[in-house]
Amino acid sequence: MTLESHRPFIEDLYRELHASPELSNREHRTAARMAELLREAGLDVHEQVGDSTGVVGVLRRGDGPTVLLRADMDGLPVTEVEQVPYRSSATDEFEGQRTGVMHACGHDTHMAALQGALRILAEQDDWSGTILAVFQPAEEMMVGALGMQEALRERFPDGIDVALGQHVMPAAADEVRSAAGPVMAASDHLIVTVHGRGGHGSQPEKTIDPIVLTASMVVRLQTIVSREVAPSDRAVVSIGTFHAGTKQNIIPESARFEVNVRSFEEPVRRRVLAAIERIVQGECQVAGAPPATIVRGDIAPLTVNDDDAAATVGAAFDAVFGDRHAAQQPLLGSEDFSYLPETWGAPYVYWMYGGFDPELVRVARERGTFDIDVPSNHSPDFIPVLQPTLDTATTAMVTAARAFLV
Ligand SMILES: [Zn+2]
Ligand SMILES: [Zn+2]
Repeated sequence: MTLESHRPFIEDLYRELHASPELSNREHRTAARMAELLREAGLDVHEQVGDSTGVVGVLRRGDGPTVLLRADMDGLPVTEVEQVPYRSSATDEFEGQRTGVMHACGHDTHMAALQGALRILAEQDDWSGTILAVFQPAEEMMVGALGMQEALRERFPDGIDVALGQHVMPAAADEVRSAAGPVMAASDHLIVTVHGRGGHGSQPEKTIDPIVLTASMVVRLQTIVSREVAPSDRAVVSIGTFHAGTKQNIIPESARFEVNVRSFEEPVRRRVLAAIERIVQGECQVAGAPPATIVRGDIAPLTVNDDDAAATVGAAFDAVFGDRHAAQQPLLGSEDFSYLPETWGAPYVYWMYGGFDPELVRVARERGTFDIDVPSNHSPDFIPVLQPTLDTATTAMVTAARAFLV
């Protein structure tokens, strides 16, 4: 493998992408740059694949399996802390407000590593098959992969044999983690509007106070995971927004909150969603209020690695990374990656690599300060160390691809 000769390209590309992030479904400059680099590397390029900025590069090398390699392109509405010379100073409008934009989920490392991996694979002449390199928009909104499905089906009707994707996480930068079975949770988003009866703060008897009612709901919703889900199952119910009222002496007409649910199994997911509905409507009834309005928001699918394909990738990682390849425990984060292989009903493997100084991670683990010392994805100081992060990610992508392309 010729990682050394491509390392400067990969590092420069990473710095460039980190400094110029774009929000979901606005990855126009990023997509154009990905397409340009794919052409440079000798791939056939499809642009505007799907309803947004999706880019697909195709590298055909005779008969053999078709392997889809994926990187996501979007940044987040997060203002970066001053920490590295290639810091992002980009800003954009988000939900009516001016905000900083940052690659706070590390998708810049995914793109740089995939472009590097493609150059390495293009140079190797001892494999045959087809590579579809997919640069996907809007992962953070869980709509990017879904928006590419129809176009992918039309443009690539022969389908794929396997899809491969990876994500950077808070762990040592020389480490990869993989597993068979569920690796990322399903995510559900509910928007609940509670209808009370408004009035003067001094005359509560004439009102149905939606704040008191909703406060009780919020507390009661916390009992779903602790009292209704088996301790051996995993689920999370979080309330991320809660809005009501305009002034201290007015009892408002309504209150609104948003719930996020994470789960790993369909029966658990259904049970949690049903319990939310029951508690919300039950509390409304208790208060003598009309039924609440519950609207479904974003949904992210479960990410479940194929057993055979994960075993193939796992064995290849063992051979290359040795004891720096560990088992991935299922994460409660969510991904829309699986929508890509779902286009053709193909199997897939999604794995993780670390992005932080191995020594810092080791010390933090020893001291029990890992959660404080190592930033999490989406935080303004989630800035992976350049190396060995990019070497690890590029090597992992080449290794996994070559496990199928022989
Ligand atoms: Zn993210
Ligand atoms: Zn991400």
